[in-house]
Amino acid sequence: MTNKTANISHKLPSWFKQELPDMDKIRAMKGMFRKSKLHTVCESALCPNMGECWGAGVATFMILGDICTRACRFCAIKAGRPLAVDPNEPQEVAEAVKQLNLRYVVVTSVARDDLPDEGAEQFYQTITEIRKLMPQTKIEVLIPDFSNKMQSIERLIAARPDVVSHNIETVRRLSEYVRSKALHDRSLKVLRNFKRIAPDIITKSSFMVGMGEEHDDIEAVMKELVEAGVDILTIGQYLRPTGLKRHIPVEKFYTPSEFKFYKEFGEHTGFKYVESGPKVRSSFIAEEGYRRCIQILEAAYS
Ligand code: SF4
Repeated sequence: MTNKTANISHKLPSWFKQELPDMDKIRAMKGMFRKSKLHTVCESALCPNMGECWGAGVATFMILGDICTRACRFCAIKAGRPLAVDPNEPQEVAEAVKQLNLRYVVVTSVARDDLPDEGAEQFYQTITEIRKLMPQTKIEVLIPDFSNKMQSIERLIAARPDVVSHNIETVRRLSEYVRSKALHDRSLKVLRNFKRIAPDIITKSSFMVGMGEEHDDIEAVMKELVEAGVDILTIGQYLRPTGLKRHIPVEKFYTPSEFKFYKEFGEHTGFKYVESGPKVRSSFIAEEGYRRCIQILEAAYS
């Protein structure tokens, strides 16, 4: 599976060993995505968990094409001039959600700095189409920063997603080096604005470790996210996707006990739920984080 390709320069520690995935289920998923021409971040980003997720019939849909206007140094997704927006895509995503009978779906996208609304309308239409076909399905959107454009943020809120996720990706000190076209403070503003305008929508963020951050950097970014009102946090191990110069080397592999420490530190600091582990990615077992967060919110207000 993707592990070999996902990390070419280091021998992976033992804790990355994976169960053999359900290959029949994976072939069925591949067949469906090929026929529908839909993209998934699972494939485009060479996600190490694809076997496990697809084996369980879960995938993260990637809308707005598979070419990004940015080139973050940890991401395998192609960078360049994106293709035109596909007006049929929202409907096709909704039909795939129905075909997979998903209780919980994550929809993400590449960054589209080339569009006036940076893709907010396509997210709005996709959520709306899913709601028409699968009204019970919970919807998490993992969004780019829309350059913190208020019109785009309000358009997305109008679609009432259950969870709005925007990844801070790394610590403040490394942000410019790791994702030069993003801004650390702008990402915090985006998360803060969603919580300010729509306090009932759960917000979520994610960062990877292993790119050269120090312990104090990690604690600092977690406090910044709590101050921005973020409910759910995920922390995972960075894996170098290719040997290309664009992709930075892995500086350190964190142990499962270090990830456990940051989970406890995070929940002590104020997150309602923290998913932290070597294989954790923003949309990995995303439904579990959502359900736990809802339980905590219900307990707090009952
Ligand atoms: S914005 Fe960065 S992380 Fe997101 S798809 Fe583009 S290159 Fe990848």
